[in-house]
Amino acid sequence: MLIVKKFGGSSVANAERINHVARTITDSYKEGNQVVVVLSAQGDTTDELIEKAMEINPDASKREMDMLLATGEQQSVALMAMAIEKLGYPVISLNAFQCHIYSTSNYSNARIKEISTERINNELAKKNIVIITGFQGVNRHLDITTLGRGGSDTSAVALAAKLGADLCEIYTDVDGVYTCDPRLVKNAVKLEEITYDEMLELASLGAKVLHNRSVELAKKYNVNLVVRSSMTDAEGTVVKEESKLEKMLVNGVAVDKDVARIAVVGIKDEPGSAFKIFSLLGKEKISVDLIIQSIGRELSKDISFTVSKGDMEKAVEILNKNADRIGFKEISYNDDVAKVSVVGAGMATNPGVAAAMFEATFDAGINVKMISTSEIKISILVSAKDADAAAAAIHDKFITRAMQHRN
Ligand code: ADP
Ligand code: ASP
Ligand code: MG
Repeated sequence: MLIVKKFGGSSVANAERINHVARTITDSYKEGNQVVVVLSAQGDTTDELIEKAMEINPDASKREMDMLLATGEQQSVALMAMAIEKLGYPVISLNAFQCHIYSTSNYSNARIKEISTERINNELAKKNIVIITGFQGVNRHLDITTLGRGGSDTSAVALAAKLGADLCEIYTDVDGVYTCDPRLVKNAVKLEEITYDEMLELASLGAKVLHNRSVELAKKYNVNLVVRSSMTDAEGTVVKEESKLEKMLVNGVAVDKDVARIAVVGIKDEPGSAFKIFSLLGKEKISVDLIIQSIGRELSKDISFTVSKGDMEKAVEILNKNADRIGFKEISYNDDVAKVSVVGAGMATNPGVAAAMFEATFDAGINVKMISTSEIKISILVSAKDADAAAAAIHDKFITRAMQHRN
């Protein structure tokens, strides 16, 4: 079998972990498999590199940030190759440049466009274990790019798709995908399997166990994907097209803490003001998530929306610069918020779901600031300090009870 195995930051955090993972890799190789490994930077290396950069220049260009951040993964692959050398197996580490992982030029959030697998296949033919840097790509100028935080999952799935791997295993610090982050909600339940669509929804709403683009790619190329623990042998969660389990109304609860809220207050109540605001932000590639507009009164209205924390200051600056064009009284903003979402099929058609969600937050004494619903999810915005409690209350209301009913 050709297997792609990806190990996240905590799985390679120190020498002991690296040696442990090296044995997991060589055990699989010994069984006769061709093994391609994708690694993240060790532990908190990426965060530490960002801190270092901020000390020197908080406005550093994205190009130089990518040049810096990509070094974290390069350390991991070399160290892992050394650990495998020590165990006496043939191994080679490669970075994105060496294995031709071509991406768009969108520094800090690039997308993989093409991978030419010749080098990797050559190394596999030479019986090497191939260790590849996650998270990074090169653009058409051969400059280094990165794929967005958590992007090593996407590197692994893209490589698995392109190499036609039989299996792509994402090894991490939990033993599978749960109904909610098991670190936040103690009675979260591990799922035996989950469909690509459900996983995509959870990942997009903040469940960082898989990078959302990795799930998109897995679905597109039908990659055989498993999430499992790098520390234990426990069976992981299979992510696949169709789930054999009975469809549950609710699959999971996701928490996204990378959220900021901006309120534009006192906008003239006339056609086109929302268009002006969101087209200005769109031009700067700032994506907007939840949006609410108050009912116009006395010829003025308010529009509030959420962006990612990193985009908040820029968004406020753009709106202030264009204050005359848009026409508003003031802007307020706050990044002390979080989004909690409940995900599952049939949300919109099931009238009890929204009520149950608000009953859960009401019972927990949590104030809901914004709401958005769709076919498959309901999201609410709450104070950051309330996020974990809201997730637990909502999880308890939906999942714990649904599980009890099934048993
Ligand atoms: P890695 O470094 O291996 O890529 P991440 O920290 O990116 O690991 O992702 C694993 C983490 O995702 C877990 O430690 C867990 O806290 C978090 N997580 C969030 N939602 C879920 C979920 N639904 N199921 C499992 N883990 C989740
Ligand atoms: N090292 C990168 C990050 O911390 C990529 C990854 O771990 O997937 O975001
Ligand atoms: Mg990750």
